Amino acid sequence: MHVLLVEDEEIIARPLASLLRAEGWTVEAVPTAAQARERIAQRAFDAALIDLGLPDGSGYEVCRVVRQVGDAAVIILTARSDEDSVVRALEEGADDYVAKPFRARELVSRLRAVLRRRGAKREYRFGALAVDAQAAQVTVNGTPVALTAQEYRLLLLLVSHAGRVWERGQLLQALWDDGGAFVEDNTLTVTVKRLREKLGAEGARIATVRGIGYRWEDGL
Ligand code: CA
Repeated sequence: MHVLLVEDEEIIARPLASLLRAEGWTVEAVPTAAQARERIAQRAFDAALIDLGLPDGSGYEVCRVVRQVGDAAVIILTARSDEDSVVRALEEGADDYVAKPFRARELVSRLRAVLRRRGAKREYRFGALAVDAQAAQVTVNGTPVALTAQEYRLLLLLVSHAGRVWERGQLLQALWDDGGAFVEDNTLTVTVKRLREKLGAEGARIATVRGIGYRWEDGL
């Protein structure tokens, strides 16, 4: 279980990270929104604990990025107990929030509760292909397919919205959003090509919509 902890106050982050590790989770702790985005681009997380007040931005943005790319459970840490910030956090896709000051143990049990609630396994199946969004694992005929982070994110986006037409610009934005390195349009073409190859026959489900972008075909 991989947890991303985004919190700039070391006095909160350090003991919380220790407790999470003691519970057997792998924790990546970062103090800024920029570093959080970097980590999110690198790998899939099962859960994210996000402070709202970060030195270089707001936790809302980080929450949005987490939501765009995957399926992690999100808990917002907020010093602001006012209703607005809580409502907004939930609107941005957070599963729960805890108001500071909180006890690390309380947060851990809240996290467990959220993970249990979301526990119903999220899996997308199309023919021989299975995408397990909980484990971030992709198999074809039961054999794992090794994908890069970008390939996985693209695939998850497509399979979770089967039939929807995505414009190239939308895919680029969703995949390399918010301050990520500049990505040429051609990179999307290359990523799609590699993904199709890796998925074998099921790769044909990524349909090119001429002059617009791509669509995932559920019926082949
Ligand atoms: Ca803070």
